Amino acid sequence: MSIFDHPDYDKHESISFINDASTGLKAIIAVHNTNLGPSVGGCRMFPYANSHAALADVLRLSSGMSYKAAMAGLPQGGGKAVIIGDPKTDKSHALMQAMGKFVNSCDGKYIIAEDSGISVADVNQMAKKTKFAGGNTAQYSIDGLPADGNPAPATSLGVFHSIQVAVEHVFNSDLTGKKVAIQGVGHVGLRLAKLLHEAGCELMVSDIFDDNLLIAEKQFGATIVSNSDIHKLDVDIFSPCALGGAINENTITSLGASIIAGAANNQLATNEMDRLLLEKGICYVPDYLANAGGIIDIHYQSIKNGSNVGLCERVAGISNTVRAVLEESSSTGIPTQTVANMKAEKILYSA
Ligand code: NAD
Repeated sequence: MSIFDHPDYDKHESISFINDASTGLKAIIAVHNTNLGPSVGGCRMFPYANSHAALADVLRLSSGMSYKAAMAGLPQGGGKAVIIGDPKTDKSHALMQAMGKFVNSCDGKYIIAEDSGISVADVNQMAKKTKFAGGNTAQYSIDGLPADGNPAPATSLGVFHSIQVAVEHVFNSDLTGKKVAIQGVGHVGLRLAKLLHEAGCELMVSDIFDDNLLIAEKQFGATIVSNSDIHKLDVDIFSPCALGGAINENTITSLGASIIAGAANNQLATNEMDRLLLEKGICYVPDYLANAGGIIDIHYQSIKNGSNVGLCERVAGISNTVRAVLEESSSTGIPTQTVANMKAEKILYSA
């Protein structure tokens, strides 16, 4: 199949591949759209079953970044990178530096940052070979803790605000006593658990590794549940914070929550899930609205004369975007992700 006929190809500007025998780097960079500015997006490292899966992921993730940046009002476009490999066993400084060199081949049209499987330390290695790296330095902090460039605190705060808005929209109430099921308690999910716990929510959590589950149980009173059951729980909010595709043809029939709002990119496995959720009366906060805190943070860190409070306020601005989309969906009967896509495309393609 040609790239241009790929089901996830969406007018992408460029797609670059590398197979570097000396370091073992196998990676893809997809630049979706630079109408609003250079594309920014994290690099995911994952043991993809094959290169088709990696290509589909990078195509979908990069177009999502364009929509996310447009709706967050940022002067930047959407791009993404994937490294095919196991982040637990296949990382080396040489591999990360080779990735940095690969980023240079985009001539500044792509700025790399962290995503699942890639840490600030990894981006620092890449930054030894490219100046087109972000999310590895910081002057402003979201949670009062020393900031290292990791955008996860800002992402968690944005998801938290999105959940607050959805709860107001659906229940006309605040978060006190609401039950939230969080799938994946990694960098974002665990921080989100803390924010929700402090707001008086009751938590249920699942993950494929135990360490953070035990922290969530001990520190936030969370109940640990199995990965196969988390989406079925009779809760107010289901928050996918692991990888994409949580809402798919298998899970859609057994969803137990009234609201879906989380950090994971590409939560809907297919576009038709958007309408199916609406038909089931489930309020879905489009993923790229809820999780925009990370790119807002990366952009804000480069601003002179900003402040910690200013960064928090900028992330809190996600609430207005989410509210506008939920209200328009309710008044028109158009599914939420479709409403968000239409708004984003207007910004992207009229630039
Ligand atoms: P992470 O890798 O730190 O955390 C993901 C967690 O999900 C891990 O603890 C992992 O063990 C767990 N997990 C993986 N598969 C699972 C499964 N099948 N069931 C349950 N748990 C599973 O990643 P993160 O930085 O916390 O990001 C989470 C999601 O949010 C990703 O999809 C990422 O692309 C997206 N996102 C992150 C940011 C950010 O700032 N980190 C920004 C925007 C979007």
